[in-house]
Amino acid sequence: MNEIITISKEIHFTAGQAIMELGYLISAIFFIVGLKKLSHPETARAGNLWAAGGMLLAMLITLVFHRNDQGEAISNWFPLVFSLLLASVIGFYVSKKVKMTAMPQLVSFFNATGGAASAIIAFMEFGSIPAENMGLVLVSLLGVFIGAVSFTGSMVAYGKLDGKVGDFKSPAMTYLNLIFLALTLALIAFVVFNQSEYTSNILLYTILGISLIYGITFVMPIGGADMPVVISLLNSFTGIAAAMTGFLYDNNAMLLGGILVGSAGTILTILMCNAMNRSLLNVIIGGFGSSQQTTTEDGGTIKEISLSDAAVLLAYSNSVVIVPGYGLAVSQAQHAVHELDKLLEKKGVQLKYAIHPVAGRMPGHMNVLLAESDVPYNQLVEMDDINPEMENTDVTIIIGANDVVNPAAMQNPGSPIYGMPIIEAHKSKNIIVMKRGSGKGYAGIENPLFGNDKTRMLYGNAKDSLQRLIDEIKNL
Ligand code: NDP
Repeated sequence: MNEIITISKEIHFTAGQAIMELGYLISAIFFIVGLKKLSHPETARAGNLWAAGGMLLAMLITLVFHRNDQGEAISNWFPLVFSLLLASVIGFYVSKKVKMTAMPQLVSFFNATGGAASAIIAFMEFGSIPAENMGLVLVSLLGVFIGAVSFTGSMVAYGKLDGKVGDFKSPAMTYLNLIFLALTLALIAFVVFNQSEYTSNILLYTILGISLIYGITFVMPIGGADMPVVISLLNSFTGIAAAMTGFLYDNNAMLLGGILVGSAGTILTILMCNAMNRSLLNVIIGGFGSSQQTTTEDGGTIKEISLSDAAVLLAYSNSVVIVPGYGLAVSQAQHAVHELDKLLEKKGVQLKYAIHPVAGRMPGHMNVLLAESDVPYNQLVEMDDINPEMENTDVTIIIGANDVVNPAAMQNPGSPIYGMPIIEAHKSKNIIVMKRGSGKGYAGIENPLFGNDKTRMLYGNAKDSLQRLIDEIKNL
C-alpha cells in the first residue's frame, strides 16, 4: 500500500492515499445526493441515510488508510472505535427518545457539539503549524473563533428554545458585540502577522475566551420569532468551522462536508430571512419578536362557535383550508387532523393544507408532522401558492397557529412582525380558530384575526377538539 504512484512530476500518492482520496470523493457524492433528497419530504428519510452512509464511509476509510507524516497507520484504534460506538448509541437513543416538539432544541445541541469539535481541533492544531505558514495560522484561528461562537451560541439557542433562558436585550449589548467582534479579528490579525511562540499561545487562549463569550452575547439578545434564523445561521457557522478544520488536516471529506453544511445553512438562513421579510443584519441586531407589544386589538369582539355549528359549516363547504401551527404539534393532533381531512373529502369538500415556512418551531416542522400521519404531499400547499386562493376559500381552520396568520404583519406598520409574510387566512369567507384560550404565539403579540367578524373560536386542546369535531361530523 505504501508503493508510490506518480501521477505527474509534482503529485505522488501511495496506493492507500489514492484509495482514501477516492473514498472521500465517493462520500462527498453521498453527502450531495443526501442533501438533494433532504429537500423533499418524500425522499428526506432516504436522504438522511445517504448522508449518514457517506459519513460512515469517510470514517472507515480514514481509520484504515490514514497515514501520518512518518507513514505510520492509526494504531490507537480502541479509543477511536469506542468513542464512535458510544456516540452512535447515544445519538440513536436521543433521536428515538426526543419529542417532535423538542427537535429544534436537539438540532441546536448537535450544532453546539459540532462547533465545539471544530474549535477543539483547530485549537490543538495551532501549535503544530509553522509560523511562516500565515494562511494556515489564519485558518486555524478562524476555526477556533467560529467553532467557539457556534458552540456557546448554539447552547444559548438550545436554552432559549427549551424555555430555560430568557431574552436579554439592551442597546449596550449591540455595542459590546461589535467590540468583541472587532477585538477578536484584530487579535487574529496580530497573531497572523506577528508570530512569537509566547505571545501566540497567550493570544490563542484570549481569542478562544472572547469567542466563547461572544457566542453567548451574540445570541442572548435575539428573541422570539427570530430563533429559526439564528439556528440556521449557527448551523452554517458550524459548517464553515468544520471546513476550516478539514483544510487544516488536509482532509477532503471534512472540507467538502463542512462546505456543504456551511452553504446549505447559509441558503436556509437567506430563505428564512425572506420568509420573515427581514434582512440578516436586522435579525441580528433588531430584536424582533421580543415581547414588546405595539399592536392592540382593533375593537373586534371574539366570538365562539359551537361544535355542531362548526361541523355543519365544514361538512357543507366546497373548499376548506387547514392552517396547522405549533399547537397542532404540541397536542400531537396530526393523526386526528388527517382523519378530519379524509372525512371531509368523503363528503366532497376540496381540502388543502396551507404550510407556512416558519410554522411550528423548526423549518419544515409541519411537513414532518403531517408526513407522520401520511397526509399526501400534494395536499400540502406552500404559503405563496395558497395565498391567492384564500379569497375563494369557504372555511379556513387554524389549528394551533397564531403568528403565521397574524394580519398585523400586513396591516399594522407598528407591529413587531410587520412585513413578515403570512398565510392570508383573514381573506377567506369563514375562519375557525382552534386553540386552548387566549395564549399568544411565539412572538408574544396580540392577533387581531381573532376579533375579525368572520372568525369564530373553537376552544380546547387541538387533539380533543378535532376528535369531538370528527364525531360530530360523523353524526350529521
Ligand atoms: P405560534 O407559536 O404563533 O402559536 C401557537 C398557538 O398554539 C398559541 O397561540 C397557542 O394558544 C396555541 N396552542 C398551544 N398549545 C396548544 C394545544 N395543545 N392545542 C391547541 N392550541 C394550542 O405558532 P405558529 O406555528 O403560528 O408560529 C410559529 C412561531 O414560532 C413563529 O413566530 C415563528 O417565527 C416561531 N418559530 C419558528 C421556528 C421554525 O423554525 N418554524 C423556530 C422557532 C420559532 P393557546 O395557548 O391559547 O392554546
